[in-house]
Amino acid sequence: MTLPSWIDLRPGHGCPLCAPRPAVDEHRYFVSKLSVSTLYLTRDQSCRGTCAVVYDSAHVTRPRELSEVVIPRYRSDPRWGHPVWTTSRDELPKTLADDAGCERLALALREHIESV
Ligand SMILES: [Zn+2]
Repeated sequence: MTLPSWIDLRPGHGCPLCAPRPAVDEHRYFVSKLSVSTLYLTRDQSCRGTCAVVYDSAHVTRPRELSEVVIPRYRSDPRWGHPVWTTSRDELPKTLADDAGCERLALALREHIESV
């Protein structure tokens, strides 16, 4: 994916996070529509279950308005017992999830969301 320049992105032209956006692409996999946002699994599942919650109602440009990334921690994750972000991204082993892997995780998340 080639992004437009920051000058174009700032007002929202070509913004990959603004709706409408594809349910599935090389970066995300749709899990569930929430009340004002949409939950996606990230394709990078180096930390299993990593998701992004993207605000749907408007284009935002301030950090506090941007999507939140939720990273659950497991004993099997490559940085268990340590903060995720203290090393450079290149030092972490990268695990990309295919559609089948994303769908298995998405089903588990949907079942949990529906039970809450
Ligand atoms: Zn946007």
